[in-house]
Amino acid sequence: MSEFTELNSAPHVALLPGSGMGHLNPFLRLAVSLTNQRVQVSFITTHPIVSKAESKALACLFSANPKITCKEFHLVPFDKSSADSEDPFYLQCAVIRRSSHLLSPLLSSFSPPLSALITDMNLASTVIPVTEALHLPNYILFTSSAQMLSLFVSFPVMVSSKVGGDSDIEGDILTIPGLQEIPKTWIPPFLLNMNKFFRNYFIENGKKTLQSKGILVNTFESLELQTLKALNDGKVVWNLPPVFAIGPFMPYQSSPTLTWLDDQPSKSVVYVCFGSRSALSREQIKELAVGLTRCQCRFLWVVDDNTVNQESSVELDEVLGHEFQEKVKDKGLVVRDWISQEEILGHPAIGWFLSHCGWNSILEAVWHGVPILAWPQMSDQKMNADVVERSGIGMWEKSWGWGDEKTLVNSQEIGEELEKIMRNELIREQAKQMREEARRAVAGGGSSKNAILDLVEIWNSL
Ligand code: UDP
Ligand code: UDP
Repeated sequence: MSEFTELNSAPHVALLPGSGMGHLNPFLRLAVSLTNQRVQVSFITTHPIVSKAESKALACLFSANPKITCKEFHLVPFDKSSADSEDPFYLQCAVIRRSSHLLSPLLSSFSPPLSALITDMNLASTVIPVTEALHLPNYILFTSSAQMLSLFVSFPVMVSSKVGGDSDIEGDILTIPGLQEIPKTWIPPFLLNMNKFFRNYFIENGKKTLQSKGILVNTFESLELQTLKALNDGKVVWNLPPVFAIGPFMPYQSSPTLTWLDDQPSKSVVYVCFGSRSALSREQIKELAVGLTRCQCRFLWVVDDNTVNQESSVELDEVLGHEFQEKVKDKGLVVRDWISQEEILGHPAIGWFLSHCGWNSILEAVWHGVPILAWPQMSDQKMNADVVERSGIGMWEKSWGWGDEKTLVNSQEIGEELEKIMRNELIREQAKQMREEARRAVAGGGSSKNAILDLVEIWNSL
């Protein structure tokens, strides 16, 4: 078959990501993975773009994958002064939601016509009505863990069953049907605040996701077997559409890592990064700095005291002081720039990962067999940290709390915890085994590979 006829007979799927790198990265990886399965992929980019990291990642995708078509989606103008949040990513998400009506002509203009749309979970409640009107099958990409998905789809039922409608959650424990009980302190704090606008989004999106044709999750059976089973057996929510566990999404590009790492002994470095959105307080950064200096290991630390990765006006010296960088230059490296994390985690010098437990970070560590010391900071991260701990690939010191101003973790505790994980051979071995499981899942005959093939077959038959 020529490439032309092959593409013409392939299903045509469009992808619509939400905002922030934690949502964009899995969409980019999924786009490449579907193209490799001979699916024709169109990628919808929302404009204006928020961060430099997002613009760069998109430019890389299109230049390295000419088969993926780019469709621009221009958002409605938005008056930021009337916004409910200062977080630029939540704002962007709100603007995309408000612009959803403009999607109808865009989605109808694709040629050949679309077989399906894959939508970010944060856009479900405003985009599914649009695709329903067009009779276009809509699949949701859930960019966090299956465990978080179970909260996402059961939370609307939990709050609506309370007398008086959307009242606050009572008691200290939450019961997600079909799953273990969860301390209330593990759920994203914004869900406990009735005044947060994204609490309502979360509820609306969770409800509307039940009307999608399926839910795609970047996870795999060996990592979250019980949760996936409970979801697909209808125990969490009886009318849930099928959940496709199709992870780990694989890295698809290689960029140079830091030459500093090449000079470090194998598995000697702890990599410290709190994702693209979680900024530690100045006080906590200082304690962490001393903790890292005290502990035996070498370290590579990505310091971000800004939530948006744009040109930062604050110099590193202002946060840590020049002295610190001089003092640690033989055992540690501190970087302020956006680095390619998937490359760093794959470097042989990396031995451990001190992580905020963003789901992408966890799956990237799993892919490379790097054990995790979990230090959740916000949103879904405690739910994910629990997956890390229960699957045996890392440790979570729960007394560290959310890493907010209420719980300053001192340098001694940080140093001790790092020493503990460095000595823990069992966790290192379990992380290594999970790496093998991850690779088996996406190889021929593996559970995630089969789930992707099932999806492609469904789209082919539409
Ligand atoms: N990331 C990166 N370089 C950085 C910080 C983050 O490449 O300096 C990537 C990381 O590999 C991951 C994504 O950005 O794919 C962050 O997503 P995650 O779910 O881990 O956390 P979030 O940033 O959404 O809190
Ligand atoms: N969320 C939402 N609507 C928004 C922003 C956030 O529903 O406009 C929910 C989202 O479903 C997620 C949680 O808030 O479960 C955390 O948001 P996000 O995933 O953006 O945070 P991140 O993972 O990037 O830290």
